[in-house]
Amino acid sequence: MTAVPPAQGAADGAPVRLRGALDALPVYTPGRPATVREGLTAYKISSNENPFPPLPSVLEAVRGAAGGVNRYPDLAVAELTEALAAHLGVPAQRIATGPGSVGVLDQLVRATCDDGDEVVFAWRSFEAYPILTTLAGARPVMVPLAPGARHDLAAMADAVTERTRLVLVCTPNNPTGTTVGAAELEAFLDRVPPEVLVVLDEAYLEFVDAPDAPDAMAQHRARPNVVVLRTFSKAYGLAGLRVGYAVAHEPVARALRACALPFGVNSLAQVAAVASLEAADELAVRVKEIVAERERVVAALREQGWEIPDQQANFVWFDLGEETPDFAQACDAEGLTVRPYGLDGVRATVAEPEANDRLLEVAGRFRRARHG
Ligand SMILES: *Cc1c(COP(=O)(O)O)cnc(C)c1O
Repeated sequence: MTAVPPAQGAADGAPVRLRGALDALPVYTPGRPATVREGLTAYKISSNENPFPPLPSVLEAVRGAAGGVNRYPDLAVAELTEALAAHLGVPAQRIATGPGSVGVLDQLVRATCDDGDEVVFAWRSFEAYPILTTLAGARPVMVPLAPGARHDLAAMADAVTERTRLVLVCTPNNPTGTTVGAAELEAFLDRVPPEVLVVLDEAYLEFVDAPDAPDAMAQHRARPNVVVLRTFSKAYGLAGLRVGYAVAHEPVARALRACALPFGVNSLAQVAAVASLEAADELAVRVKEIVAERERVVAALREQGWEIPDQQANFVWFDLGEETPDFAQACDAEGLTVRPYGLDGVRATVAEPEANDRLLEVAGRFRRARHG
């Protein structure tokens, strides 16, 4: 092939004009793959993935659909929408799907926010929140977590102004693993004006066993401004296929569909999600195993002297402050890639028992070395 000559004058022409909002964009740090160490199985426990491979029935559905990928997927995502409606006991008109719940979140921001509008959420929370907000030209209003790494719902209600269009409540919270309580959520929702949309991001719902956890679907049924956001990426183990959904009242759901990228949910994701809903009982057994491992890990860490807040998702939060980089490095040296957050702490996914055992070893050694 011959090289294409550079366009005449391209070097000294005016720079292309890009949106100013991009300059303010926080960068999404994906979980790194584990460093390979000789004689040691490496584990990537930095992205809250499900350690189990796809169920045979789900794989078979994906294989069956693979032969048809020369065709566009169903634009309306009809079969999955119907299956979700039946699964959740809501009308199909209330379901809006997207490429991962991050995709749906993007639709939510674009459906509600004009330039300079405000999106209120806790911090630390899910990294995608400030990115999607800023990309849409809206302003992130980040409300510090309360002691115990929990949402400060009273402060979040105080942070709502005339410019607020959206409030994101992440429960369990990524990366701190804590849930909001049913009663405090109720009191919070009573305070939020009805024209402000509240999203309850339940990416980790299936792992929750706290008795005072909220019933997000009941709140959605009772309040036109409450949206429930869920994903097939975590408990359902379909992170690589990208599919999530919102349950929203009809005008909102319609707006979300209007903001969706056409054909955003691919055909393999659609069949895999339907097959996964059909196998919900089988998946629940795996979720139970992960929750049991979480409880084992948290109990052992507390035994070692760590102060771990109540953990309700498929990961564990270490509130390490300045020791964050050192702990992450100690994990990496043993073939465990965890997710450090600045000088706040480290999040480690609950994975295979062997990975969890190794995490406990590293954590125990780190703790003894630092704190006797
Ligand atoms: C993982 C996660 C999601 C889901 O991401 P997908 O795009 O569905 O893979 C949403 N919210 C939170 C808080 C998460 O941690």
